[in-house]
Amino acid sequence: MHQVVIVGGGAGGLELATRLGDRLGRKQRAAIVLVDRNRTHVWKPLLHEVAAGSMDMHLHQLDYLAQARWHHFAFYYGAIEGLDRTQRTISVSPINDEYGAEVIPRRTLPYDTLVLSIGSIANAFSVPGVAEYAFALDSAEEADRFHQRLINAVLRANYNPEAARRGLRVVIVGGGATGVELAAELHNTTRVLAAYGLKNLDPERSVALTLLNADPRILPMLPERIARATTAVLESLGVGVYCDEQVVEVSASEVRTKKGRVFPADLTVWAAGIKAPEVLRGLGSLETNRLNQLVVTPTLQTTLDPDIFAFGDCAACPWHGHRGTVPPRAQAAHQQAAHLARTIERRLSGESPEPWQYRDFGSLVSLGDYSTIGSLMGFISGPSFRVEGWFARLMYVSLYKLHLLALHGWWRVVVDSLAHTLRRGVDPRVKLH
Ligand SMILES: Cc1cc2nc3c(=O)[nH]c(=O)nc-3n(C[C@H](O)[C@H](O)[C@H](O)COP(=O)(O)OP(=O)(O)OC[C@H]3O[C@@H](n4cnc5c(N)ncnc54)[C@H](O)[C@@H]3O)c2cc1C
Repeated sequence: MHQVVIVGGGAGGLELATRLGDRLGRKQRAAIVLVDRNRTHVWKPLLHEVAAGSMDMHLHQLDYLAQARWHHFAFYYGAIEGLDRTQRTISVSPINDEYGAEVIPRRTLPYDTLVLSIGSIANAFSVPGVAEYAFALDSAEEADRFHQRLINAVLRANYNPEAARRGLRVVIVGGGATGVELAAELHNTTRVLAAYGLKNLDPERSVALTLLNADPRILPMLPERIARATTAVLESLGVGVYCDEQVVEVSASEVRTKKGRVFPADLTVWAAGIKAPEVLRGLGSLETNRLNQLVVTPTLQTTLDPDIFAFGDCAACPWHGHRGTVPPRAQAAHQQAAHLARTIERRLSGESPEPWQYRDFGSLVSLGDYSTIGSLMGFISGPSFRVEGWFARLMYVSLYKLHLLALHGWWRVVVDSLAHTLRRGVDPRVKLH
């Protein structure tokens, strides 16, 4: 049987594995295999909520083994380490437990069609101290680790007189959607945390949130008027927004910028840009760009091997009618997954792949409980228009619902949404542990 191996079960890869499992795996027209370095999937755009504690990742994670069983594909737990294009095999890392004992040995997997969708990681731009002292929202584990540190820092600021005098200082580097959304979410959750019996913590005086951005304005992917409105909301919340401030060093207790400013920081989050994981550089001698992304043609095939596809954040795909490549967004990965599912079906029937074109539906930024704001593209490529408030919130939430729909179908999405709504009534508003 034709073997399709998909590496990376994120926003794009898990949708693709599910679609192909349902269409091809179920009828045994092809063997579908998903490889991921984690055992569970959490949709990446939720990670700022996991970090702030407004979302409990354990309630929103999906077990790959269960999804594989329900949707007729096989799941391999491990990270891709190597690619042999002559033998058409990939090697998957061994898995060790927390004591270093081997649980699963290194494996070699054959493929007929290989799809790489291993996403992206924070780009530190060689700034000293980022790897050691800053958090990045690259994975659910890291977002959860940040949350643990946040809770400890809030408790310290409440119980330790010296820490209480200093207050809690969080610096977020990067004024894109991730940094902005995290700033608003943290503002909200620190206030909720303080309300849960932390009497010495006055969030207005004791919590300082700072957003540093190297560009002249935040949210470069959105029109200027939306960036201005968002800045106004953040400043009204007391978030310090500093633009034209390029960070040159991060240490355990402060962040320094090129202009010589020093921002004290108990916690630093790095959200200043992305690059593809290092493993892609040199993998199977495929073509990569300076961000380690695999260069693909409009059919999503890698330039040097038509049997290897790449999509999502780890791929540099030409953007029809634009100068750059398709932006690293969940909505792009979602569209590409649907297109690739059709492409792979066509391949099995001996038909050639068709080019894919990105349809940009606009960008929305969630400011937590305070607002949702953004711009949507006009119908049939008309001009973009600004949206705000409940309609924007609805559109924002619908991107996640589309992801869930692709994974589970209507019935389960309705039941899940109902269950989460009911739980909200009985759970604390912020995860406290
Ligand atoms: C806080 C935040 C908010 C965001 N908000 C939005 C938004 O509102 N709208 C939007 O469109 N986009 C948003 N994004 C961007 C969006 O999350 C990404 O563009 C999207 O997740 C890319 O999908 P992907 O499938 O390429 O990668 P991912 O979803 O990152 O999935 C990659 C998968 O590959 C796995 N993997 C990684 N390395 C390996 C390896 N070596 N071997 C095996 N598996 C591996 C990972 O475990 C993961 O499961 C946001 C991102 C963040 C961080």
